[in-house]
Amino acid sequence: MALDLRALPKVQLHCHLEGTLSAARFRELGAKHGIDLGERARVPLADTYRFTNFGEFLLLFRDVSETLRTPEDYYTLASDYARDAAAQGVRYAEVFVSPSVWTWFHHGIDVEATFAAMRTALDAATRQTGVEVAFICDLTRNFGADRALQTAELAVAMKPYGVIGVGLGGDEAKWPAELFEGAFAYAREHGLHTVAHAGEAAGPASVRAAVERLGAQRIGHGVRAIEDPAVVDLLARRRIPLEICPTSNRLTGAAPAHLPHPIGDLDAAGVIVTIDADDPALFGTTLIDEYREVEQTLGSQAIFRFAANAIEASFAPASRKDALRAELAASRDSGGAVEV
Ligand SMILES: [Zn+2]
Repeated sequence: MALDLRALPKVQLHCHLEGTLSAARFRELGAKHGIDLGERARVPLADTYRFTNFGEFLLLFRDVSETLRTPEDYYTLASDYARDAAAQGVRYAEVFVSPSVWTWFHHGIDVEATFAAMRTALDAATRQTGVEVAFICDLTRNFGADRALQTAELAVAMKPYGVIGVGLGGDEAKWPAELFEGAFAYAREHGLHTVAHAGEAAGPASVRAAVERLGAQRIGHGVRAIEDPAVVDLLARRRIPLEICPTSNRLTGAAPAHLPHPIGDLDAAGVIVTIDADDPALFGTTLIDEYREVEQTLGSQAIFRFAANAIEASFAPASRKDALRAELAASRDSGGAVEV
């Protein structure tokens, strides 16, 4: 019997808000701004985001970024996200946003007004459904060290809108961790948490660098740590959680498509693992789909353990963590609300 994964109270730690834009909303924004979306507007809705290789995915990411132009667009995006998250049983989330990508595509966008609009949407969602959402500003490796520091400064300035940390996505092979030590130190000195994508497009040395040089408190993906037992041991000893996104890992090649995902081996080695969906709309998945995939290979006890890991790995205040733990324990004690 399978768990009712929708009822399972969940914490979401690795989801890019821009990557949650639904295909229908993407087309709507394209029409609103008079953007020619080409084939993407003509194929069946379910095929809007189809891609077959990484190059095509980058073009898709560009097109999505093109349609998100105004604070109002981000209000809609955040509102849609929060409604969908609540419907999937998410209680608390720390979502990535990439302001340096917004301004790359749209020089004139009012960044503070955009954060304010998203905050308004998310606060309304909290009142309606109880879901709480904080922001982590991605510094985006590809824009270089100076821009990363500017984005870290922006993240600090946006704390009143619910920014609690900085992250580091982008091309880890070409833009290694050591370039970003200054930006991470600045963020930490100003009270922000620090996380980093690593061990996705580059190997275990990149994971080690994110931990040792950047002081990352969590690692996005980190799956290629499995290639070096010493790095697995480092993650386990320092209790650095991994945010694992199985579908994303398969599509980007971070994990081999033909083998069971290494999440089970990492868990067995004592690494704290959590489950997430990365860019769910673009990857054609949902948080529940990712939980289901892991449940099918590792079983329901692993699901409860990983859901508990996400609570502990979050940056939620202690009182919020207590409430989340209690809710998860109640769900487990009731048998996890078995699906019928
Ligand atoms: Zn990611």
